[in-house]
Amino acid sequence: AQSERDQLYKIHEVAQSFFQEQLHETEEGRLIGLSYFKERGLPDDIIRKFQLGYSPEKKNAFTEYALEKGYSKEIIEKSGLSVFPENASYGIDRFRERVIFPIHSFSGRVLGFGGRILKNNAKAAKYLNSPETEIYHKSNVLYGLNFSKQAISKQNLCLLVEGYMDVIALHQNGIQNVVSSSGTALTTEQIKLIKRLTENVTILFDGDAAGIKASFRSIDMLLSEGMNIRIVLFPDGDDPDSFSGKHPQEYVEQYIAEQARDFIDFKAEVLLQEANTDPIRKGEAIRDIVKSVACVPNALKQEIYLKEVSSRFGLSEQSLFNELGLQKQVQQ
Ligand code: ATP
Ligand code: MN
Ligand code: MN
Ligand code: MN
Repeated sequence: AQSERDQLYKIHEVAQSFFQEQLHETEEGRLIGLSYFKERGLPDDIIRKFQLGYSPEKKNAFTEYALEKGYSKEIIEKSGLSVFPENASYGIDRFRERVIFPIHSFSGRVLGFGGRILKNNAKAAKYLNSPETEIYHKSNVLYGLNFSKQAISKQNLCLLVEGYMDVIALHQNGIQNVVSSSGTALTTEQIKLIKRLTENVTILFDGDAAGIKASFRSIDMLLSEGMNIRIVLFPDGDDPDSFSGKHPQEYVEQYIAEQARDFIDFKAEVLLQEANTDPIRKGEAIRDIVKSVACVPNALKQEIYLKEVSSRFGLSEQSLFNELGLQKQVQQ
């Protein structure tokens, strides 16, 4: 008999085709879903390539379909695609009236979905994702990796963005070495997936406070895994998706190349701007940078980074080494 995992993979395949068919072959899907993607500037080939879909408004459209196909209530529920309220004889679709982004494994199997709301309804979450299941472990998956792995290897560089649409928009603009952690804090497992392909990562996060905060977390995670990192900040209010939509490929590539800074520069600029001329805040900023340096596992690299901090701030290497030693004790 089929194992439960096999059945879960299979039902995700079925669901992916269902959502895709809803998008292209039904009036509701075309009117609401397809026109949404078109308004966001996605052409047909990209919509097909990323297997984008639409989940209808009807409360149990997918659940009914899956039951008709012979899937048990138990498997449908375990897939996270439906919930069966207690004592109810019916199931309710998790994704309703949303555009659908299938989330693939490294080898291209569908593991789960993200669904974006269409109306700007402040009550509902903008994105809804599949829950953790037997086949979908969020912390082990990077969105877009199956589409981007060749380009990442070939260019020996991985661009890291925040969202589904950032990955897709960059692909559409001819930039294919890009993945997203899709709203979750970057994990060690995700970094290890990248590391199989390249040790070089450029972080392209949204040009807002949330983006800066997320990039700070990611910097230390990436440094801890020995990755070489650069950071690009987009103009306030832009993310890679909106920026890429406004400019041709060459311009975006040039922007990334010119704006990419090492983490010392990036953190210094952000933190010193906050610190202004306050010497105490300035000290905290420098300590914060040394904290990142302390994440680097290679002692030689660590020394090179410290020398840079030293020359940048006009501080003695000795005092920075002392601080580094303290930070390492804290981390252990
Ligand atoms: P869009 O361009 O469609 O508005 P975005 O990707 O720019 O989306 P952000 O608000 O920047 O949206 O969020 C980045 C990513 O974080 C999203 O792509 C999604 O993966 C995740 N995310 C955002 N909002 C939520 C939410 N409410 N629940 C879960 N994940 C979310
Ligand atoms: Mn954002
Ligand atoms: Mn964004
Ligand atoms: Mn966006």
